[in-house]
Amino acid sequence: MKSFFPVLIAEDDPVSRRLLEATLTKEGYEVVTAENGHKALETFENRFFPIVITDWMMPEMDGLGLTKSIRRQETSGYVFIFLLTAKSSKEDIIAGLEAGADDYLTKPFNRGELMARLKTATRILELEESLKKANEEIRLLSITDVLTGCFNRAYMDETLPKEVKRSLRYGRPLSLIMGDIDHFKKVNDTYGHQAGDEILRRFVACLKNEIREEVDWIARYGGEEFLLIFPETDFERAMLLAERLRLKVSEMLIQHEERTISITVSFGVTCLPSKQANKDISYEEIIGFADEFLYEAKKAGRNRVIGHPVKCAQ
Ligand code: GH3
Ligand code: MG
Ligand code: MG
Ligand code: MG
Repeated sequence: MKSFFPVLIAEDDPVSRRLLEATLTKEGYEVVTAENGHKALETFENRFFPIVITDWMMPEMDGLGLTKSIRRQETSGYVFIFLLTAKSSKEDIIAGLEAGADDYLTKPFNRGELMARLKTATRILELEESLKKANEEIRLLSITDVLTGCFNRAYMDETLPKEVKRSLRYGRPLSLIMGDIDHFKKVNDTYGHQAGDEILRRFVACLKNEIREEVDWIARYGGEEFLLIFPETDFERAMLLAERLRLKVSEMLIQHEERTISITVSFGVTCLPSKQANKDISYEEIIGFADEFLYEAKKAGRNRVIGHPVKCAQ
């Protein structure tokens, strides 16, 4: 399918502007017009346009000024800029390209030439789009745990410090729950590694089902140890949550090769309470607390939740 990127036209001459607008609209382009560079820049700042066609000579801000201003901005994607000009001397064209224009068209424009050049712009913009998409996919792969689909350790190391910083700066609560499946070695030994993998997937799916989408998140911390992060969640709520998760996991029935397997999990809970602004604590220390309480839960007999809020040093 042919894609039509929206086009912003800056042209002070009303006849020329309308002709250009009508020509592009007829071809299927969505067009927005402005009567000088200054107005075009205002429009552009409110909405991103991947294609800009600008006249050279205009009052208030000319085409070169507009081109330079757009290039100075941090835009969400590439902007393909055409300079539309009656000038055709080599020096002028060079000045236009040096200001950041990608291409130029001489007035009066030729419809066929305009369309052909827009096609080139579209090809380049499409290429940029596909590169961006590929980059996003790579980024997603680089932060995802392949087996379970939750975040991986690298994502946790990148994101948790930011969550902690935000919580401390604004004095907002942040809860952490560390979970480790009970006797998982035995599960692997009894049912096989493949069954173990399937259980890990189901375990994460079960947790994901219970947490707030886009706010709370889960990372695989180690083999079958997972860290759950709950922003804006106080200690009491985190304890209730952990208890609910523990129950849900214990109620799960996992079918594997005609056998029904069930598991239990132990949780260590900790929370950076609210009103801890300006206190100093690292994310590693907070994880350390959650890990300590998880260890206590294991020692106390497993399939249970133990937790305490973090006490920050003054
Ligand atoms: P505990 O109740 O004390 O936690 O006992 P445990 O047997 O679960 O002990 P531990 O947590 O140390 O066990 C980790 C086990 O998890 C060992 C390892 O074989 C298994 N494991 C780690 N990652 C994977 C994985 O990706 N797939 C499978 N199937 N098993 C895994
Ligand atoms: Mg003009
Ligand atoms: Mg375990
Ligand atoms: Mg473990």
